[in-house]
Amino acid sequence: MIALHPSLRYNLTNMSRPSTIAIDGPVAVGKSTIGRMLAQRLGYRYVDTGMMYRALTWKAIRLNIDLEDEERLSRLAESTSIDLAPLDKVLVDGDDITSGIRDPDVERGVSLVAKVAGVREALVEQQQALAQGGKIVMAGRDIGTTVLPHSELKVYLCASFEERARRRYLELVERGEAADYQAVLTDLKRRDEIDSERAVSPLQPAQDARLVDTDGLNVEQVLVEILGILGEG
Ligand code: C5P
Repeated sequence: MIALHPSLRYNLTNMSRPSTIAIDGPVAVGKSTIGRMLAQRLGYRYVDTGMMYRALTWKAIRLNIDLEDEERLSRLAESTSIDLAPLDKVLVDGDDITSGIRDPDVERGVSLVAKVAGVREALVEQQQALAQGGKIVMAGRDIGTTVLPHSELKVYLCASFEERARRRYLELVERGEAADYQAVLTDLKRRDEIDSERAVSPLQPAQDARLVDTDGLNVEQVLVEILGILGEG
């Protein structure tokens, strides 16, 4: 039997890896946690596109722009520079706005901003540019369907409303924030509804996406399942 030198085995594994991995799914399904862990494991860059929509919403609110004003929001998207910097920092026009990215007003407004066609056009273009070099795990709502339709691996994560609300509620409690389970559940349903029913790139699995139901699974188990799809279990 011919034994492969370890470095060669590594190269062979690398050659079969997808260059881009798309992870989509609804609110609080665990895309960020899983995406980040997967990227770390593969030595890929992780890009959370939700942060870009949040960053733009943050700026629109600070500028008192009406979140129903599609024209102004589209122009804002075209003229705003959004950087996803290392250590999960988010920069808007060079300013670090990380601490505001999960503000309640951003949370409430982001789905309205994200349904504007002009906003999506501008941000999708930036996301595609980010993915050009490959070795990227990108998470969002429309990565498999619109941003990276040719991605070699598309994962669509799903879980029940109750499970997702429970996870988000526990996350808020852990961060020391005041949280109410019913309010979390209601907001989650509202955002999912807007994301699923919008005219442009609605939340839906790509036809060739692998569905992973995370109900009853912890993050390690979900990661093992995705690594299994990649043949790296
Ligand atoms: O993933 P996260 O909850 O941070 O995303 C915030 C919002 O940004 C989503 O509710 C959705 O409205 C929007 N979004 C989107 N397309 C993406 C990523 C996020 O419409 N690719």
